Amino acid sequence: MKNSITKIMALMLALVVFAGVFVSVDYVGGHMHHECTGDHCEICIHIREAINYISNLKSLIVLPFVAAVVCLMTQAFKKAETVSLVKHTLISLKVELLN
Ligand SMILES: [Zn+2]
Repeated sequence: MKNSITKIMALMLALVVFAGVFVSVDYVGGHMHHECTGDHCEICIHIREAINYISNLKSLIVLPFVAAVVCLMTQAFKKAETVSLVKHTLISLKVELLN
């Protein structure tokens, strides 16, 4: 039950992100040739915000990939350390000390 709720929430989040992309692209495309009033033009401000939203999605895509790579590398190093330490102890080799 909890797993299905998590999947539904992830799907809704993905839909919101993609809807934001489509709305942003549509807004920028629809208002490219507007009658600009100057420095404080509301439409230019919204166009800049839409472009920033689309640009910021790059980090949203790249960060989980970097986190996954770091997790995999950490597990690989941890596994390598465990294997090398366990195989070469005197107890595991059953070495008998005769002194
Ligand atoms: Zn403008």
